[in-house]
Amino acid sequence: MQIYRPYRASAHDMCRFHSDEYIEFLQHVTPQNLQNFTKYLSHFNVGDDCPVFDGLFEFCSMYTGASLEGAVKLNNNCCDIAVNWSGGLHHAKKFEASGFCYVNDIVIAILELLKYHARVLYIDIDVHHGDGVQEAFYLTDRVMTVSFHKYGNYFFPGTGDMYEIGAESGRYYSVNVPLKEGIDDASYMQVFKPVISSVMEFYQPTAIVLQCGADSLACDRLGCFSLSVKGHGECVKFVRDLNVPLLAVGGGGYTLRNVARCWTYETSLLVDEQISNELPYTEYFEYFSPDFSLHPELVSRQENANSKQYLEAITKHVYDNLKMCHNSPSVQMHEVPKDALPSHESDRHEEPDPDVRVSQADEDQRVEPANEFYDGDKDQDKTSENVEA
Ligand SMILES: [Zn+2]
Repeated sequence: MQIYRPYRASAHDMCRFHSDEYIEFLQHVTPQNLQNFTKYLSHFNVGDDCPVFDGLFEFCSMYTGASLEGAVKLNNNCCDIAVNWSGGLHHAKKFEASGFCYVNDIVIAILELLKYHARVLYIDIDVHHGDGVQEAFYLTDRVMTVSFHKYGNYFFPGTGDMYEIGAESGRYYSVNVPLKEGIDDASYMQVFKPVISSVMEFYQPTAIVLQCGADSLACDRLGCFSLSVKGHGECVKFVRDLNVPLLAVGGGGYTLRNVARCWTYETSLLVDEQISNELPYTEYFEYFSPDFSLHPELVSRQENANSKQYLEAITKHVYDNLKMCHNSPSVQMHEVPKDALPSHESDRHEEPDPDVRVSQADEDQRVEPANEFYDGDKDQDKTSENVEA
């Protein structure tokens, strides 16, 4: 694993998807000048669910830049898996914030992947419907969005019924798997594996973006599913094993100790390393009491409302729709647009000139754990572990 201090996305990068007015608003609004923006707050859906806080734009710039840089590194074959747990803000819309999401880093990363990839698959295992990403690509067959989520009883955001399948050229390229509360590991696998297998068979994507929202875990403060950390991780492992260039991002998750457990375990799966169930001592140790383990038993509050018959019916519905896709649509790639990042950002992996000292800026962009005994890109011992965070 290689760890980087990521590129910061500019307003220009964000406007690849969002409207200029909305991004300009995010750039200028602060808790101190809020009263000057009152007429814009409701217009951009900022205030209640999506509050204004100090450093808001910087926050958006960091998590969006990391997803964008992940996409650029995948495009340039600098890695085969890129990870950005700070990203995955799947609800943000072109003109507005939604559900704690301001800038849709996923859409911006997918737009970058489309410069090099004919077909990008988006998979979303957050408990909420991946509505912002679905909406962005609803009319195109270049991106297939597949979202597994709780649906019904006005559960946020209220979309994601199985009949939302895309429109125009995108008809059959939006896939929704609406689930009921309390779904456990076994039931989730009963739909996840066959659905993703059929998607791979019919769509044959050349890159995948996986949104790993951890609010689908049992005991989440906002969620209502009953997945264990191992069950959630099983989805990540299944996608990893498809061996397609992968950008893994975070998303929701509101019982924080379990979010940390989940993405720690999933990082270990993505780099294919075994890690101990016993947590190491850190300044956050007490958050993990009383068991101090990676995999405590998450006791579910919910009955599983998903019958075997219901899950079979959903899986069949998805399969029947996928059969309607024209097999793996392709595009004629005329001229590849320039990479989003300035050339020194994307060329960071080129062999350094031995006569030039590493600049402080280059040094700074690369953050390595102090206990790593491994001397950079030229190390011949590290061959296949091209994973980054
Ligand atoms: Zn969520």
